[in-house]
Amino acid sequence: TPVIGVLALQGDVREHLIALAAADAVARPVRRPEELAEVDALVIPGGESTTMSKLAVLFGMLEPLRERVAAGMPVYGTCAGMIMLADKLLDGREDQETLGGIDMIVRRNAFGRQNESFEAKIDFTGIEGGPVEGVFIRAPWVESVGGAAEVLATYDGHTVAVRQGNVLATSFHPELTGDDRVHAYFVDMVRAGL
Ligand code: GLN
Repeated sequence: TPVIGVLALQGDVREHLIALAAADAVARPVRRPEELAEVDALVIPGGESTTMSKLAVLFGMLEPLRERVAAGMPVYGTCAGMIMLADKLLDGREDQETLGGIDMIVRRNAFGRQNESFEAKIDFTGIEGGPVEGVFIRAPWVESVGGAAEVLATYDGHTVAVRQGNVLATSFHPELTGDDRVHAYFVDMVRAGL
């Protein structure tokens, strides 16, 4: 059984722990480099990416996280977590750091400008059983992706789910819906690499 950490600096950590357990992973919060070293994979939750970036620096987690991602650890980021996984960020704060991991340009708060929060049915490549419920809260979208990144879902013409190798990102929050299929998709990715 894969051991999957949830980055617990800030954000909706508890909801991810529950969704991962429902998808048959062992899930635990990760705050420190020693805890990061002990997990097979990591989820970066939704929340506020500028705060998450600040706390990652403060907790000495920025470099350890970058190193694990670069070394191929499977990672899944939702919303603020997607922002953290962007190689390039638009509309970020001046001093905002990302980890990188997916060759994509993400625009922060992109949907938020149009509509603070909404739900939509999202067809997700690789997930069976019909569309997943997408909960978008001041959500980013993916403005463009490089050749190595695969678009898994779009909404209203905008890319909202991307995978590049072991790294997965969604603009929306499956952890808030009780539908664990996206978490199960990620757990399968992790199992495939163990
Ligand atoms: N707008 C937030 C940010 O910039 C993300 C919102 C969310 O995670 N629901 O980090």
